[in-house]
Amino acid sequence: MTGNNILVINGGSSSLKFALINDQEANPRISGLAERLGSVEAGLSWKDSQGKHSKAISKAGHQQALAELLPLVQNAAPEGLQGVGHRVVHGGEAFTGSCLIDNSVIDAIRATIPLAPLHNPANLMGIEAALAVFPDLPQVAVFDTAFHQSLPDYAYRYAIPTSLYEQHGVRRYGFHGTSHRYVSAEAARLMNADYQQSSWLTAHLGNGCSTCAIVNGQSRDTSMGLTPLEGVVMGTRSGDVDPNLHSHLANVMGWTLAEVTRVLNNESGLKGLSGLSNDMRTLEEAAGEGHAGAQLAMEVFCYRLAKSLASMACALPQLDGLIFTGGIGENSPLIRSKTVAHLRLLGLQLDDAANLRCIRGVAGEIQASGSPRVLVVPTNEELQIALDTLNLIQPHGAAHA
Ligand code: ADP
Repeated sequence: MTGNNILVINGGSSSLKFALINDQEANPRISGLAERLGSVEAGLSWKDSQGKHSKAISKAGHQQALAELLPLVQNAAPEGLQGVGHRVVHGGEAFTGSCLIDNSVIDAIRATIPLAPLHNPANLMGIEAALAVFPDLPQVAVFDTAFHQSLPDYAYRYAIPTSLYEQHGVRRYGFHGTSHRYVSAEAARLMNADYQQSSWLTAHLGNGCSTCAIVNGQSRDTSMGLTPLEGVVMGTRSGDVDPNLHSHLANVMGWTLAEVTRVLNNESGLKGLSGLSNDMRTLEEAAGEGHAGAQLAMEVFCYRLAKSLASMACALPQLDGLIFTGGIGENSPLIRSKTVAHLRLLGLQLDDAANLRCIRGVAGEIQASGSPRVLVVPTNEELQIALDTLNLIQPHGAAHA
């Protein structure tokens, strides 16, 4: 069986990530990145069965980068492409699931730009470039926010004047939905459980981090809010702070709103606390050598993560499992163990040997006997985007590799 080929695109303002996914194969046939688009240093780098490659594409924009990519894709998918799936960060309240892209969808993504001024215009550039290069293929938008549209109002509303919600959409949206959805469904599959009758806590820990409570296949609460700054500590993002911090820093430091926003998004989190790095590997090494900032950053990260998971537990009728995913969640036994150590009240406890075994893509259960399940499940947002795309373009739905 040759399966179906889907090109998955994640457009950034000056970059475009891509992966060619076949639904019958475990790994992408090609994946890569076009970066510094629009500049003389623009470049394309990709990985395929033959190894790693790169190519200068000086001054190329998004569309030219995709045109450069076209022969590579055609070469890797001689059977042809069935469709293109796009990651879109913000779907506002307009999108509760993935959808086929047409002009009205593009207009709705554009209308959501005020909620995601950096991401949505960049995602639209990717969509428009792909429509120009692949005019005959069906294209699908998969939103980071859509999975969380099932949150009840008491979980998504902020306690601020209602008019701000009604007139300006100020509410909690949540992000990383594709990952939370993928790993929770995958956990149910691994456990032979019925996803539609199961309850999970998920911790997606990459450069951005978020937690989620999932009941019967639906997100019931999540840690990110109006923007991806809310919630737990991240690589460079602060997560929750006192909402008065903006005015306090403006008064004390004389900073503009833009400066405060930049510091909270780019100079905070693990980087700000450690004074060293936003990268957990670097921090683990430094902490091992006695670096006090790195040690504190890891302690705050784990405590705040555990606190967020405990609060997410309010949304669950029972706990079928806690799932770790993302670069940190999939690879750091230390962070998993420090986090779970704060969750004794939920009865959670790890098996040290099992915890150490689940790294570098190895999925599995890592709880001690008698504890509710704790699982490591590698995320695969590209595969989920490809599966959503196939489900929408094929009446009989997608098969999973
Ligand atoms: P992104 O959100 O950009 O996709 P990833 O999911 O790749 O990021 O996660 C990046 C994070 O994962 C970094 O903090 C990195 O240090 C961390 N990470 C990757 N491997 C390890 C490891 N072996 N131990 C600890 N942290 C790791």
